[in-house]
Amino acid sequence: MKDLSLSELSAGLSAGDFSSVELTQYFLDRIKQYDDDLNAYITVTDDQALAAAKSADEQIASGEAGPLTGIPIAYKDLFCTDGVRTSCASKMLDNFIAPYNATVVEKLTAAGMPMLGKTNMDEFAMGSSNENSYYGACKNPWDLERVPGGSSGGSAVAVSAQLAPVSLGTDTGGSIRQPASLTGISGIKPTYGRVSRFGMIAYASSLDQGGVFGKSAADCALVLQGMAGFDPKDSTSIEIDVPDFSAGLNDSLKGVKIGLPKEFFGEGLDSAIADVIDSAIQEYKKLGAEIVEISLPNTHLAIPSYYVIAPAEASSNLSRFDGVRYGYRCEDPKDLTDMYMRTRGEGFGTEVKRRIMTGTYALSAGYYDAYYLKAQKVRRLISNDFKAAFEQVDVIMGPVSPETAFKIGAKTDDPISMYLADIYTLSLNLAGLPGMSVPAGMANNLPVGLQIIGQSFDEAKILNIAYQYQQVTDWHKQAPTAFAEGK
Ligand code: GLN
Repeated sequence: MKDLSLSELSAGLSAGDFSSVELTQYFLDRIKQYDDDLNAYITVTDDQALAAAKSADEQIASGEAGPLTGIPIAYKDLFCTDGVRTSCASKMLDNFIAPYNATVVEKLTAAGMPMLGKTNMDEFAMGSSNENSYYGACKNPWDLERVPGGSSGGSAVAVSAQLAPVSLGTDTGGSIRQPASLTGISGIKPTYGRVSRFGMIAYASSLDQGGVFGKSAADCALVLQGMAGFDPKDSTSIEIDVPDFSAGLNDSLKGVKIGLPKEFFGEGLDSAIADVIDSAIQEYKKLGAEIVEISLPNTHLAIPSYYVIAPAEASSNLSRFDGVRYGYRCEDPKDLTDMYMRTRGEGFGTEVKRRIMTGTYALSAGYYDAYYLKAQKVRRLISNDFKAAFEQVDVIMGPVSPETAFKIGAKTDDPISMYLADIYTLSLNLAGLPGMSVPAGMANNLPVGLQIIGQSFDEAKILNIAYQYQQVTDWHKQAPTAFAEGK
């Protein structure tokens, strides 16, 4: 069952080949068998999953099943889940039981998807390696000595090692695309505003967006369908029609113009990755696409502006964790100030503190104009670069990450080199655009993802372009052999 696509799983469920309870138990068993090695899950919700699977079976029996009914899913541990710990992989929220569901969880639960559990991540989604977790690093199933990428590492590993058929993550600067790339699966970050952020614990509100990890573009399309749409509870969610993401998957790519930004292929890109991307582009040519060289001249400013804006927003968002309202509180505070200081000092990890300090500094009187305002202006320039590029082309392609999965511990003492991992992903978040990572080959015996970037609300086109590639290549079918046992 682990190798079946979502539509095959759905067909198997309606044909009675297996029940949702059997399917869910199967994945719970795989989690039990393998997750000690991988550390992809922070919390496994066995009983709740099986109860939901039982109701899904009843729904299927009564002929009322939708395309997702009975298929289990895993959620990054920053989506609030009613009655279940939602930790953000932080000591600060280790004891926090969410009192309600995030809108996307609510929608997918209503669609009949049992929740297997909550997945590991970098604390408060800050990181590119999943090493900044209070619950320990998550391991890459292709090589347990390497990182799976981050911050949504656990959700990516759950799908890559087949401990869940599909999962949700969030992407503030690359946290869906980069771990998808490093673990060899498909992952889509929708347009900012396409998917509700209500109940998704905020890191940087103007950048955060929830999305999907799946085995294929077709799987991602189905789950995105279930979670997209306007939400009155999220003031930044956009009231715009949601197309049928699966309807256009088969559209021909004849004449589609693909832009290759020259800034994405310069110094710093592993040449083995450049070769993989080049072969993928050759496939697209065979499919009838036209290749155009373009320029996104302000790409080099994405990292510096992101690492002002994201920490600034984080410093404000995380001020709510003060020991009064949520989660951790220090022992025996001597007064209120002592409680605030010790709670935050003890509850947050190093990277989170670094971001809060940087953000507070950038927002303080005297520095606001020099850093925050300047970064916002650069953000506009980056967005304008994309606008100009999309006058020439339909989509933009390039690598997701400059390197393949690196060794655990290799960058932990050097935050700047960790931040460089985001070079090709951050600019989309600054511009609010949708993007996807699609497995495109191997380099250094590790998976490599191809990035597909679209215009705002062009997820259907991105999925179509990814799907067509997956019809003529098999990279998305590869799974790490160490976790392949079992049918
Ligand atoms: N690596 C980036 C950061 O640390 C992006 C993380 C994310 O997308 N959540 O901020």
